[in-house]
Amino acid sequence: MKKTAHTSKSKTLSVSSPKGMRDLMNEEYYSFQGFFEKAQEIAVYYGFKPIETPMLENEEIFTLGIGEGTDIIEKEMYTLKTKGGDRLALRPEHTAPLIRAYIQHGMQNMPQPVMLYHSGPVFRHDKPQRGRYRQFWQFDFDSLGSEKSIMDAIVIKTCISILEEAGANNLSIDINSIGDKECRGAYIRELTSYYKKHISELPSVDRERLRINPLRILDSKEEKTKEINKNAPDSVSFLCPSCKKHFKEVLEYLEEMNIQYNLNKSLVRGLSYYTRTVFEIIEQAGAEDGSPLALAGGGRYDYLARQIGSKKDVPAVGISIGVDRIVSSSWYKKLAPRILKKPKIYFIQLGSEAKLKSLNIIETLRKAHIPITQSLSKDSLGSQLAIAEKLAIPYSLIFGVKEALDNSVIVRDMSNRSQDTVKLNKLLEYLKELK
Ligand code: AMP
Repeated sequence: MKKTAHTSKSKTLSVSSPKGMRDLMNEEYYSFQGFFEKAQEIAVYYGFKPIETPMLENEEIFTLGIGEGTDIIEKEMYTLKTKGGDRLALRPEHTAPLIRAYIQHGMQNMPQPVMLYHSGPVFRHDKPQRGRYRQFWQFDFDSLGSEKSIMDAIVIKTCISILEEAGANNLSIDINSIGDKECRGAYIRELTSYYKKHISELPSVDRERLRINPLRILDSKEEKTKEINKNAPDSVSFLCPSCKKHFKEVLEYLEEMNIQYNLNKSLVRGLSYYTRTVFEIIEQAGAEDGSPLALAGGGRYDYLARQIGSKKDVPAVGISIGVDRIVSSSWYKKLAPRILKKPKIYFIQLGSEAKLKSLNIIETLRKAHIPITQSLSKDSLGSQLAIAEKLAIPYSLIFGVKEALDNSVIVRDMSNRSQDTVKLNKLLEYLKELK
């Protein structure tokens, strides 16, 4: 027999999701869902409103905003060319899409600030390891259109509240101010001349950064550079009077709310759109090796709007929470999603006549908001009762051949095995009386 082209070329398919990307299911799915519900509830309380943007954006939104010399742009972005020739990117973060939406929908004409929350997967071609994926989930919230320092404080406070409600303790905030266009130029010149003096000691990756984006050298992972950074000039000493005032106010708000912070002069964050305040929320000893683990990070980005095409600057501040790291932490409270109701009743059916009528009875119970559980594919009383006992559900409804004929059902108290026969048209009333 002649082999078809398909069979002759067939090779073993790799039945696995792409590296660094995974299916969310079972308990992990509910953990994510419960976290998002809690985060939304708190964000809404503080005045943030929802928005959802596409997962794909024009690549330029990110290249113009996040900037050259950053790992995201240089190494980590998933890009594609469409059949129509457009260059798109899977979003590596939520901030640039958010400000793109703000400009596109003329939100500058609405009362300011516009406060938005945003969640969903982001994609970075990073090296997968524990707590680091290529598709991961962020919960992001931002205040757009106000330069007031209290907005920085609200963003930080909302984030801390969400993390604490999720069970985090031992949190600390690393915070810094990297200035605005008035003062950053002088600082970067000073920094550049400092690194130039140490150029022979700098690893090649940091020499390259010196050419493109010297601020990035401050958060270098290279041991030699970390040593050099200890004596590097710090941005706070170069702040102009208005940035100094702004930063001082942010710190006062934190102190007033009893939020502990560390001034971290080498915190610049990986993305180059930041101005003034930058911060990271850290869990002390959160990483596997006992080192600190970043749970969330953000800052002010007053010039990003103009970088991606707005005619005016839009002062803005926001933060992204890394949800994967939270739900996999040992302290995570396993917030239960609202759709998961603990059923008090297990529905048992016996015989074909009863099975036939079962779905209608279950629908009546659903409409009356009475949560049940069932295994309609099972036939025997023994196997169904065994499941009810295993799940420790307090009551069973037994709907057998006789009951199906006289439109009744047996209600069995699983704790003492006592039973009542109840007419179907009285069942809802009866069940509502049960404790
Ligand atoms: P970033 O947008 O890089 O500031 O990240 C914000 C937060 O997202 C971090 O504090 C982490 O909690 C989380 N995060 C960043 N990169 C990853 C990753 N590759 N996998 C999982 N979580 C991440």
